[in-house]
Amino acid sequence: MVVSTATISLQEQYIKKDIPLLQKLVPFEFNYALLKGRGNYVGIRRFNDFVAENPKSNAIDDEFVEWLNESETGDISELDFTLPGEIWQEINSDGEDCLRQRCPNFSDCFYFGAREAAEHADILVVNHNLLLVDAASGGNVLPKYDLLIIDEAHHLNDIATEAFSSQISSRGLKRLRNKATKQLNAPIKLLEDIEFDSHALFHRLRNDYAFNKKRVRQSIKEAEPMLMSLHVLRGWIESQDYENVLDVDLAKEKLKLKAKAVISTIDRYIKCLDLLKLPDSNWVIYVEQSTNPNHENFSVTASPLDVSGFIADNLLSKAGLHSTVCMSATLATAGDDPFDYFKTSVGVIGPVVQDKFQSPFDYKHQSMLFLPGRKSYNLPNPNDAGYITEASRVIEQLIELSHGRAFILFTSRSALFRAFEIISKRLPYEARRQGEMPRNKLLEWFKVTPNAVLFGTSSFWEGVSVDGDQLSLVVIDRIPFQAPDDPIYEARCERLKEGGEKSWFGDLALPYAITRLKQGVGRLIRTQSDKGVVAILDPRLTEKAYGQKIIECLPPMSVTHNLQDLPSFFNVNSLNS
Ligand code: SF4
Repeated sequence: MVVSTATISLQEQYIKKDIPLLQKLVPFEFNYALLKGRGNYVGIRRFNDFVAENPKSNAIDDEFVEWLNESETGDISELDFTLPGEIWQEINSDGEDCLRQRCPNFSDCFYFGAREAAEHADILVVNHNLLLVDAASGGNVLPKYDLLIIDEAHHLNDIATEAFSSQISSRGLKRLRNKATKQLNAPIKLLEDIEFDSHALFHRLRNDYAFNKKRVRQSIKEAEPMLMSLHVLRGWIESQDYENVLDVDLAKEKLKLKAKAVISTIDRYIKCLDLLKLPDSNWVIYVEQSTNPNHENFSVTASPLDVSGFIADNLLSKAGLHSTVCMSATLATAGDDPFDYFKTSVGVIGPVVQDKFQSPFDYKHQSMLFLPGRKSYNLPNPNDAGYITEASRVIEQLIELSHGRAFILFTSRSALFRAFEIISKRLPYEARRQGEMPRNKLLEWFKVTPNAVLFGTSSFWEGVSVDGDQLSLVVIDRIPFQAPDDPIYEARCERLKEGGEKSWFGDLALPYAITRLKQGVGRLIRTQSDKGVVAILDPRLTEKAYGQKIIECLPPMSVTHNLQDLPSFFNVNSLNS
């Protein structure tokens, strides 16, 4: 059986808590293992080569070497410090740069060790990305499995979209030129051509599509010379036989692998540039500029418009697979068939066994949903410029009633910054916002700080759990509709508008918002003894017809429009202890 999750935290929960518990409960023995994508493991041979080739580099310090000597898994997530991404890319396990059985480190290899354990496991825990990579390779990555459980299944479509996207970036091209020069000794003239063409291409894109994630709808003629230059470099690399290389210590073999890895990068760039040159209605192209002035980068991404067919054909209908269970706390949305949105997203057509299961929590008595009316609380439309200022007033009142102990969740970074700026200095409690420190550290800070208030966006809407009174209030600024100018969402809406059968709002925008909102609301009640308040400030929830549909999809909390009803849901006894 394969169990797949979207997040590392849920994988850890399965491995450390759920499966060991299951082992105690069932009357038979079984074993289990965790397998991650190979890029998560240190590649010992690549690490040794990197150290030998860069003796003066101080990127690898004693702390890392000490960890490496002691680690049994070589899994980067064990590190409690970060390694620069570009260094990690040089020393992790890489399928295109692997000597396999001929590798001198094969017997100690972390990745092949994890694969060996996976081969013998009755239950194998993986992530969606690896699951999809296996499906795309026709089952060459994971051992054969009969049963599949996809937890956090609401993420499957997004992760598939990302996994099958290709990207070219200014920084990536610079890295490619460096590798081709240093490792393969490619002719300078070829690399200068690539540099020249990439300047022309990114100059054009920067002029026309600067800053935000912007969709490219027309053909970009500057992609053509860039394509030609990359084809020439690819041809040159392929023509090399490396006969002059002194074949000591597998040097020739290693060089061929490096050449193969560079070719595969070029192929990904070519795929993206082909689509930039000749747009295809089944693909969405968009450009992005990094906002970090120290790491200037401009990228072009080509994403498939619809991955549902791929998921259905290659994953859910995989040869030998008996059954698949898809589950999540947020799969059901509104409509005659609450699972229609999810089933469409993974290409399931026809009958399936489906059900909603009762939560073990008594939401009516454990929680209150506060929906402030527009008039009573003087709230404008969420799209009006003054909305966050007015909403901040209500947020402050709520924090006062709850004595801090609150998550304040926003749908955009700009709203988060604005509200934090207005509220945080006036609060009598410690407040922090997302971005001030890494997510896990911020969560640890929240758990141990009395009356803490945490302002967050996307990464705090799900996958974080705070039990007990420490989290007594969750405030959500507005209904989390997808940003209308998100390139993939925009293209999918357009496709639905053209098709006529389904509605872009009812079948895409609304179920997306409901799924997201359920995730945010789900932060509050984590155990049967938790108590607290969820406040959703968006007046559209009480005014629009779709607002009622959304409320019906949320956990069955008591509902109020008055702040006076809230205090009984905040446990203040624990404050004095
Ligand atoms: S077997 Fe492959 S992944 Fe493992 S250490 Fe050797 S080269 Fe790296």
